[in-house]
Amino acid sequence: MGEASIGSTGRLGTAVLGFPRFGPDRELKFALEAHWRGEVDEESLRATGRAVREHNRGLASAAGIDVVPVNDFSFTDHVLDTALMVGAARRPVPGLAGEFLLSRGDATHRPLEMTKWFDTNYHYLVPVVNPASGFAPDPSKPLAELAEAGAHARPVVVGPFSLLHLAKSADPAVDPLELLPDLVPVYAEVLRALAEAGASSVQIDEPCLVLDLDARQLAAAERALGDLVAAAPATALTVATYFGGLGAALEPVLGLGAAEVHLDLVRDPAQLEPALRAASSSGTRLSLGIVDGRNVWATDPAPALSLVDAAVAALGPDRVTIAPSCSLLHVPYSAARETGLMPEVRSWLAFAEEKLSELAVLSRAAVASGAQREDIVGAMGRVVAERRASALTNRADVRERVAAITPDDLRRATPVARRAEAQRAALALPPLPTTTIGSFPRTAEIRDARRRHGTGEMADDAYRRYITDQITDAIAWQERVGLDVLVHGEPERNDMVQYFAEQLEGFAVTEHGWVQSYGSRGVKPPILFGDVSRPRPMTVSWWQIAQDAATKPVKGMLTGPVTILRWSFVRDDQPESDSAWQVALAIRDEVADLEAAGNRVIQIDEAAFREGVPLRTSERDGYFDWATASFRLCSSGVDDATQIHSHMCYSEFNEIIEHIASLDADVISIEASRSGMELLDAFRAFDYPAEIGPGLYDIHSPRVPTADEMEALLVLAAERIPLERLWVNPDCGLKTRRWEEVEPAVTAMVEAAHRRRAAAGHEAAT
Ligand code: GLN
Ligand code: ZN
Repeated sequence: MGEASIGSTGRLGTAVLGFPRFGPDRELKFALEAHWRGEVDEESLRATGRAVREHNRGLASAAGIDVVPVNDFSFTDHVLDTALMVGAARRPVPGLAGEFLLSRGDATHRPLEMTKWFDTNYHYLVPVVNPASGFAPDPSKPLAELAEAGAHARPVVVGPFSLLHLAKSADPAVDPLELLPDLVPVYAEVLRALAEAGASSVQIDEPCLVLDLDARQLAAAERALGDLVAAAPATALTVATYFGGLGAALEPVLGLGAAEVHLDLVRDPAQLEPALRAASSSGTRLSLGIVDGRNVWATDPAPALSLVDAAVAALGPDRVTIAPSCSLLHVPYSAARETGLMPEVRSWLAFAEEKLSELAVLSRAAVASGAQREDIVGAMGRVVAERRASALTNRADVRERVAAITPDDLRRATPVARRAEAQRAALALPPLPTTTIGSFPRTAEIRDARRRHGTGEMADDAYRRYITDQITDAIAWQERVGLDVLVHGEPERNDMVQYFAEQLEGFAVTEHGWVQSYGSRGVKPPILFGDVSRPRPMTVSWWQIAQDAATKPVKGMLTGPVTILRWSFVRDDQPESDSAWQVALAIRDEVADLEAAGNRVIQIDEAAFREGVPLRTSERDGYFDWATASFRLCSSGVDDATQIHSHMCYSEFNEIIEHIASLDADVISIEASRSGMELLDAFRAFDYPAEIGPGLYDIHSPRVPTADEMEALLVLAAERIPLERLWVNPDCGLKTRRWEEVEPAVTAMVEAAHRRRAAAGHEAAT
């Protein structure tokens, strides 16, 4: 039943907006991959899906959760599912096979574009709506999942406003939002079908309402959702918002007449007060997102309960539900399983299962008072107090170092143009220097060696010898191909963040802590739990092996603080900037050690710099301040002649170019091949002062580009960036490619550089 009331249960109602989808042991991932390899048929894939859903429902019922979602599950993506449900996407062939063609493509079908789901590391499929073809209802998926779970469950769909806001239009002259009036009646038909099947309530996810919306967008959302509420009188609609506060949309959303509105009070607790004012007159129930669905920390009961108390005082207990702030898709299943963690750290964690238990405890505490409440949440409160007081989160040595950072630590002493002269003299590189981004193909053999080393099957010294051979082979190959600045190839790294997290104090790495990224892919973010330090050098010995084998300079290869933080679960007990300073000091020490070992070219990757930009414009300046300063803290302790590189895996720079410049790197390499170098206009218009390597080789594709193509791209680049500031490199690291592709592609890239060099010399001479 959607509206569990305190009268019947003796506690506040609890709800869950969505569950993780992979299953506790990533059953769905493995079933999907086996299905795609043709080893598992559709029937058994579907059976795995059913088992995952059943497992999730079991967790909810064990915790006594009142409102349990259905249709949060997906074999592909919930945005695609919703698009299919309303005819905003169409399967090229029927059934799951058609969905996989949309999500993955094949030789003849181009998959839908994929992009980040708000500021999470989940990626959704971008529907392309065609204004000419209209919409049509197909409620079969939510109906089937409702039948499976029972009619008390609450179907969840992406709402019409967010669906179109996240979509692209097949006709560039038509803004997808213009199609809202056509789409809403189709949603209404779906709701009708669900009501007939017994659903008394439906969760309409409208996370786009927390973005900066202009008046036209907000009016469109208000009208569409108001119409939907009016069109479905038999269904209690919960309009669910998350990943931020509603801001200017708060009053309009509470005035829709929806049965319930869900608010993310973890990201924006201050919105509760105005929400209560608006809700007390409108009759709308509130679902309070008080347990963090985006992070892994046990909830602090006191502030959570004070929000609940305020809501109960204003609305009465029957009009208040408590829930995680958003779907639990973004956290792993079970912290209890992480027996390899320090017990102290493990006790601070709450993954999906623990969050359900927290909800159950909070719902009882919410209606208890005084000593009784203290009995119920005492243990929860103690965990948070222990974490706050722990020596692991309060290291005097680390805090003193951060406090002692001076403005001089955040900038290089000499401006970039003068440093370039010193570097030219020291490195003596040819014009249009060629390099790669860091990693070489991650062969099955390398992965196997790492795995066997992990299990102890391969002894440390055998592993070291193996990696050493990989590195020296990679160096020999690069010398043969004629690259100018070499890399060691990163064979020892499982992942560009985890590799560092494993070596830094203050980070933990989990065994089962997977979170879906897209399709069958997941990531296992490290957990930044405490104050950070670097007990010993992390990369110097591998770099040394590479440099000893090389006649050309070898780049040192590090990951920057923004990327380390963005791809980890971070502390919520201090501002992210404080964590960034600590990580940056550790990287700064690594930079210093590399330089002391003789390394004169050091790359600090900031792959996540752009995706770290906050959703709300008002929060962006604060982000850029610490993000750029922490990069400079890593990189500015070096001599003028030491060249700092950074790498970024994206091609949209227009809005962030000034912040890229304030990283004050000597050289950046960026993704560029697919945009035909047009992105470099931003660098020209801004008068970007440093050197740039626009990617010439699209490493996302198995296709091997020719020297002619890459030379043509280089010509286009040279029209925008002076030749003496241009580098030649691929779009990104080569770890996902095979040597059969990399060898000819990099050879052709070097050939293209040589041709342009010869042409430039020729032009200079005449
Ligand atoms: N140095 C890393 C590599 O080459 C960079 C990866 C990335 O930018 N995502 O793999
Ligand atoms: Zn990259």
